[in-house]
Amino acid sequence: MKLKIFQKGFNYSQDGQGNRLIFHLQGCNMKCPWCSNPEGMSMKGTLVVNKEWLAESCCPLGAVKNGELDRAQCEICLEKPCTKKRRQKGIQLSHKEYEVDELVAECISSKSMFFDGGGVTLTGGEITMQFDAVKEFLEKLGEAGIHRAIESNGTHPRMKELVPLVEQWIMDVKHYDDEKHTKWLGVTNRWTVENLKTISAVHPDMLIRVPLIPGFNDSPEDAEGFGKLFEENMDCQKTKVEFLRYHEFGKGKWEQCGMEYKMARGSISPATVKHFETVMAEHGVNCIRT
Ligand code: SF4
Ligand code: SF4
Repeated sequence: MKLKIFQKGFNYSQDGQGNRLIFHLQGCNMKCPWCSNPEGMSMKGTLVVNKEWLAESCCPLGAVKNGELDRAQCEICLEKPCTKKRRQKGIQLSHKEYEVDELVAECISSKSMFFDGGGVTLTGGEITMQFDAVKEFLEKLGEAGIHRAIESNGTHPRMKELVPLVEQWIMDVKHYDDEKHTKWLGVTNRWTVENLKTISAVHPDMLIRVPLIPGFNDSPEDAEGFGKLFEENMDCQKTKVEFLRYHEFGKGKWEQCGMEYKMARGSISPATVKHFETVMAEHGVNCIRT
């Protein structure tokens, strides 16, 4: 099987323990307007434009004129010959396809880099958009004795099949209120809550991450809402929660992908994070900061 990957590289202790090889998988079923990896949203991939290198010669079909790419023309261009040109930095397809076995071999040859309990993390996009290939990848990493972590938005109905294949589980929970979740992100939160309940009950090392977003989920009522959600649906003895502050790191990438960044300017103060952590403690929920 093959996997579509839009980014890979090492980082230390950000998405799982120790030094890790992180694979970002193409495609996501949510449409978070603050997403810091917009190039990873579309399952079929996105053309990423680097204005510095964009020239008419980047497109053999004449879709670049006056320093702009005519994306309407790209929509009906099936072969996308621009993406096959070598040494061409002006227009690139967001992802590449790899055989799972090729990736497993890369991970095995990187084993000496997995110090401090490190290993491999699969994140996105949303990893479960490529569920069967992800499952095969995780199984083969396990056979090779490599520590496995995943980060997921928790929406896949078959999520619990991955429980025996993952040592560290990170699940993003974006809102406790289904109506608001659906309105902002385009999908219900029902599967996320269901999977939170199921997986928290059986997985020994699970971390819930909540991105705090101005105007979406950062009010004192929201803190109460999350507190109740976690208290009622999570094993609070084992599973921990981390609140992350909104940032605009991905803003420039939206333009490179020909997409409009619609978030209004805003920020989350350290005091807001502290307040959420205090409310969680009142609900018996343990918070951490990584
Ligand atoms: S997708 Fe097609 S039309 Fe668009 S830049 Fe590439 S080759 Fe040109
Ligand atoms: S779930 Fe994650 S990858 Fe998907 S759109 Fe939201 S922030 Fe981006």
